[in-house]
Amino acid sequence: MGKLMVSVSGVRGVFGETVTPALALNFAEHFGILCNRKKIIVGRDSRTTGPAMFHAVVSGLLSVGCDVVDIGIVSTPTVLLAVEESDAAGGISITASHNSAEWNAMKFVDGNGMFLFPGKAKIFIDSLNDEIEYADWENIGILTTDNEATERHIDKILDISYLETEKIKKNNFKVVIDSVNGAGGLISPQLLSKLGCEVIELNCEPTGHFAHVPEPLNKNLKQLEEAVKLHKADIGFATDPDVDRLSIVDETGNCIGEEFSLLLAEDYILSKIKGDIVTNLSSSMASEDIARKYGVKVHRTKVGEINVGKTLMELKSPIGGEGNGGIICSEVHYTRDAPAGMAIILSYMAESGKKISELVGEIPHYYFAKNKIKVEPEKLDNIMDRVPKIFQDFKLDYTDGIKVIAEKYWIHIRKSGTEPIIRVYVESESAERSEELCKETINKLLN
Ligand code: MG
Repeated sequence: MGKLMVSVSGVRGVFGETVTPALALNFAEHFGILCNRKKIIVGRDSRTTGPAMFHAVVSGLLSVGCDVVDIGIVSTPTVLLAVEESDAAGGISITASHNSAEWNAMKFVDGNGMFLFPGKAKIFIDSLNDEIEYADWENIGILTTDNEATERHIDKILDISYLETEKIKKNNFKVVIDSVNGAGGLISPQLLSKLGCEVIELNCEPTGHFAHVPEPLNKNLKQLEEAVKLHKADIGFATDPDVDRLSIVDETGNCIGEEFSLLLAEDYILSKIKGDIVTNLSSSMASEDIARKYGVKVHRTKVGEINVGKTLMELKSPIGGEGNGGIICSEVHYTRDAPAGMAIILSYMAESGKKISELVGEIPHYYFAKNKIKVEPEKLDNIMDRVPKIFQDFKLDYTDGIKVIAEKYWIHIRKSGTEPIIRVYVESESAERSEELCKETINKLLN
């Protein structure tokens, strides 16, 4: 049996094994109480187990007195935006994000339209065994439906002040969109059509029967690469099932790598608005190059979307995100939003008159290597304690694990939050050098 993963970002597992309707009911009841029994917005991705989860979640919320607004099959950023722009006290996105079809999960949204901050998430998790006081017949919640959340989300994206909508429209870009039969099949083609694109839909039926491994990594996007070549498209976009991660295929039919989604967005947005970049410690150092070009700084946070989003909000930065294709465009909201990312990338192409491969070519290229070591749980801290000594001649950052920062490379060493492993990430100017540094680091840690 797979295990149940409970973290600040929510709870996930394989449906019917660890994630069950009973679990969903319990989480929803306690979440409703955490939100003072006020209005909650609920959306879900396209998974086949979504309706079973949805009805359990709604039952839990109504039973403790929350009114519930069902916004249907939508992207996670649509749920976040719907909460932010309404008087709801919270939201639940029923999605296992990039995990495969047998998984399901819940992501919990606070009244400000962001995921629960770590402090509140802990209060929530600690409350899960408390006894429930149900609402009586007069105070039980009411369920209503809102079918316009996606449309409002699209409008908000089209309202981005620096988006060159008319220029995008004039280009009539030919775009292939691979939504992997996730929730993106609804929002992405609509948005692209509104931007005057000729849209070629690939896997845009929100059936939950994912057409390929749903994480938008290069190795899973062969079908999109072929389609871009076949249709001689200007660009291909791929999203994960809940549409917060964006990958790009260039006009030659090559995946450019998720890391470049954020870098392109940074480069474009900073040409429009000055402000610092916020990203996590494991995202590419090309962000520093881009920041230098515009005379701004890069703020690095702990890994985890909420950490990036919170810092972005505090600093009022215009752009940030994660190297896994998670673009946060502050004008829309402080959370990862793949449809917003698509609009920004198209605007960059339209305004520059350059092909996507040319724009990617202008961004400094670095190469990642990653590996992990499995160790006995009691040895974890011992190994981590030795890191400062091993790398005593380097600049060290202790924000999240230990990041060793050198002139032309970095090594990020951190304990996994869920398993007895230590992860090692490296980025340098060549693939070989990164692999070598990764291997050397692991040897040093084990000796
Ligand atoms: Mg996701």
